[in-house]
Amino acid sequence: MAYSYDPQNIFAKILRGEIPCDKVLETEHCLAFHDIRPQAPTHVLVIPKGAYVTYDHFALEASDAEIADFARAVGQVCQQLGIQPGEGGPGYRAIMNAGDHGMQEVPHLHIHIMSGRKMGHLVAPA
Ligand code: 5GP
Repeated sequence: MAYSYDPQNIFAKILRGEIPCDKVLETEHCLAFHDIRPQAPTHVLVIPKGAYVTYDHFALEASDAEIADFARAVGQVCQQLGIQPGEGGPGYRAIMNAGDHGMQEVPHLHIHIMSGRKMGHLVAPA
């Protein structure tokens, strides 16, 4: 079954400039911005500019250039935020939700980068 991408999702609107965002970083293929409802003192989302719904969609269909850019953008965001544990930062949690069981709200691939407090256990009871 093919992925169907909804061009009216909120992140597509942010990418088109129809809705503002608090930008952290922009690269050729990615945009990073602060989450509007942060669940930690630092909560940044990194998204590809391409029309990908989930990580598996992206990993299977994006170009090597897009995938490399996404991976580097995440690294650059961590660097910019000063949260890299290997560089004296406090560390972070990175999460990508997908679909119904992943409880994904916005159907455009995004990775949550959260820091500034201990995140607790990985999975809370539903
Ligand atoms: P999901 O549950 O899909 O993994 O996460 C979607 C995230 O997008 C949520 O953390 C939510 O707060 C964030 N979000 C939803 N709408 C907006 C928006 O208009 N602007 C920004 N910056 N974040 C949003």
